[in-house]
Amino acid sequence: MNMNTYIEEAEGALLHTYNRFPIVFESGDGVYLKDLNGKRYLDFVSGIGVFALGYNNKAYNDAVKSQVDKIMHTSNYYYNVPAIEAAKKLKAVSGMDRVFFTNSGAEAVEGAIKTARKYAYLKDGKTDHEIIAMEHSFHGRTMGALSVTGTPKYREAFQPMIGNIRFARLNDIESVKQQITDKTCAIIMETVQGEGGIYPAEKAFLQEIRQICDEKDILLILDEIQCGMGRCGEMFAWQDYGVKPDVMTCAKALGCGVPVGAFLMTEKVGQNSLVAGDHGTTYGGNPLGGAAISKVMDLFEEEKVLENVREVSAYLAEKLDEIAALRDDIIMHRGKGLMRGLEFKNPVGDIINRALDKGLVLINAGTNVIRFLPPLIIRKEHVDEMIAILKECL
Ligand SMILES: *Cc1c(COP(=O)(O)O)cnc(C)c1O
Repeated sequence: MNMNTYIEEAEGALLHTYNRFPIVFESGDGVYLKDLNGKRYLDFVSGIGVFALGYNNKAYNDAVKSQVDKIMHTSNYYYNVPAIEAAKKLKAVSGMDRVFFTNSGAEAVEGAIKTARKYAYLKDGKTDHEIIAMEHSFHGRTMGALSVTGTPKYREAFQPMIGNIRFARLNDIESVKQQITDKTCAIIMETVQGEGGIYPAEKAFLQEIRQICDEKDILLILDEIQCGMGRCGEMFAWQDYGVKPDVMTCAKALGCGVPVGAFLMTEKVGQNSLVAGDHGTTYGGNPLGGAAISKVMDLFEEEKVLENVREVSAYLAEKLDEIAALRDDIIMHRGKGLMRGLEFKNPVGDIINRALDKGLVLINAGTNVIRFLPPLIIRKEHVDEMIAILKECL
C-alpha cells in the first residue's frame, strides 16, 4: 500500500484528535527519519523530545530486545531487577530519594499532585488544599494534569477540573505571592515551559519560589518531562538553577521510545505522603521499561550526551540568534540547551510544511513559535544542514 492509502485508512479508523502531517514514518537512523516512500528527513523534533539518543541506537535496541526475550511484565507485587537498577541510576543522577515509575508523563503528574495533597493532609487533616500552577504551562491531558495546565482552551469543555487550582505568571514572583493562601500545598511548574512556547524560568524567580516554599512548607513540583533528561545541558534543567524540587516528574526521553515516566521525591516527602494502598499502576516499573531506562542512563554517560548538548546547543543558539537578528518577521529566539524556540510575528504552520517538503522535521509550540527539539546526539554539521533548509523556507 502506498502512503496516501495508509493515511486514508488512518483517517477512517483513528479518533480525530490530531491534525497530522501527511507523512508515514517507517524507520529512523541516528538523526534521520525515513518515510514509506523512502524519503529521508533530518529530525529536529525527536518525537517531541523522546528520542534523545537518536534512532536505531544498537546498544539500546539490544538491551530492549534481550529484555523482551527474558520477561516484560511481572506486576508491582513482586520485585524485578531492571526496575531496581533503573531506580538506583535515576536517584544517582537526580539526587532525589524515592522513585515511582509510571507509563507516561501525565500519569507522573497525577502522582505528583496526589503526593502533594497527601503530604498536606497528613499535616492538618484538611481536604481543601490548593495548588498553584503557571499560565501557559502544559502538564498533560488527564483530568489532574489538565487541571494544572495553563491553557484555558484545553480545559474548557472538560470542566469541572479537580478544583482548588490557582494560576500565576511565570517569572512574575508577585503574581505567585498573590495566589498563596494558608491552603496552598504545592507550586507546580515546568523548569522550561515547552508546549506553551519555550519559556525558561528565570533563575531569580525559581530561587524565590524555592524560598517561599521552604518558609511555608509548600512542595515545589518541577515538571521535567520535556526539559529534563539532558535536554537543557544538565541531567535535569533545575540543576542549573541552584534549587532542588521536593517532587519532580520525568518522562519523554526517560525511556527513549519505550513509554515510561516517573515521579521522584525527597526522603522527607517520601516519608510523609503516599503509603501502601494510596497509589498504584499495573504497568509502571515493569522489567521492559526498567531495562530501557537503565540502558538510557548508561548510554548518556558512555556517549557523553551532556557534553554534546552543551557544545552543540551553544552553536545552535548562535545560529538561531543570527537568523533572528536578520529577519523582521521574527520577534525573538529563546530557550535553553537543545530546547529552543523562534517566535515569529505570524503563524508558523506554512514554514513547517515547507520544511517537511524539503526533508526537515520541525514542530511548533503555540501558533507563532517554531520549536527545536533535536535528538541530543546531533552534531554541528546537522545544525548547519538544518539552518540551510530553514533559511530556504523563510
Ligand atoms: C509531554 C508533557 C507532558 C505529558 O506527557 P505525556 O507522556 O504525553 O502524558 C507533561 N508535561 C510536560 C512538560 C510535557 O512536555
